[in-house]
Amino acid sequence: MKRRPGFPLVLSGPSGAGKSSVAAWLLDNEPGAMLSISCTTRARRGREAEGIDYFYVGESDFLARRDRGEFVEWALVHGNLYGTPASFLDQRIGEGKVVLLDIDVQGAMQIRARRKDAVLIFLMPPSLAALEERLRGRHTDAEDVIERRLKAARREMATAAAYDYVVVNHDLETTRETVRAIVTAERSRAARMLSDEYVDEEPILAAARMEPPAQGEESR
Ligand code: 5GP
Repeated sequence: MKRRPGFPLVLSGPSGAGKSSVAAWLLDNEPGAMLSISCTTRARRGREAEGIDYFYVGESDFLARRDRGEFVEWALVHGNLYGTPASFLDQRIGEGKVVLLDIDVQGAMQIRARRKDAVLIFLMPPSLAALEERLRGRHTDAEDVIERRLKAARREMATAAAYDYVVVNHDLETTRETVRAIVTAERSRAARMLSDEYVDEEPILAAARMEPPAQGEESR
C-alpha cells in the first residue's frame, strides 16, 4: 500500500530554550514521530547507550563514512564530529515517519539546502534574561560555561530567519501545542498529500490529478 511520506523535522534553538523538553514531549505524543540517531566521535557520557543516544564511532571511521556520502549532513561541534545517517532518514520517511533531528545550526542549514521536504523550527527563549536565568537555574555549569552558552545563543538566534517557523517559548504547554500544530499542518501540505506514493491510501486524491471539466460542463 502506498503511504503518505513523512519528513525530517529539525528543531533548533539555543541551549536553555526548552528544545529537549519539547522534543521529548513530541516523541511521546505525536504518533509517527521518532528521533534520528546520529553518529559521533565524542566519548559516551554517563547513562548514554550505543544506538539509543548516538552511534559512537572513531574519527577515521566517521571520515570514511562521510567520504562515502553516508551522512545527509555533518558538522564539527565543540571539537567532535557529528553526522546524520542518510539511510535511516530515507527509510523512516518512506515509512511515513516524522523524523526529529536534534542537530546544531550548521547541520540545520545543510538539511535546508539538501532536503526540500524538511521542516525547520527555531525555538526562541522569551528573552535573553530568561535564557540566562534558565541556564543559571540548572546549577550545573560554571560561570565561563554559562557565558559561552549565552554568546553561542546570540549567534544561533541570528540564524532563525533561515527556518520555516519561529516559536517563542513563553510557556511550555503553548509551545508544545504550537509545534504539534505545525506538524499537523505540514502533514497536509499539498505536495505531500499528492505525492505519487500516497494516492493509493486515499483514493479520492486521484481526483486532484484529473482534468477539470470544460467550462459549462458542470451544469449539464
Ligand atoms: P551533545 O554532544 O551534547 O550530545 O551534542 C552537542 C551538539 O551537537 C548539540 O547542539 C546537538 O544538537 C549537536 N548534534 C548532535 N547530533 C548532531 C548531528 O548529527 N549533526 C549535527 N550537525 N549536530 C549534531
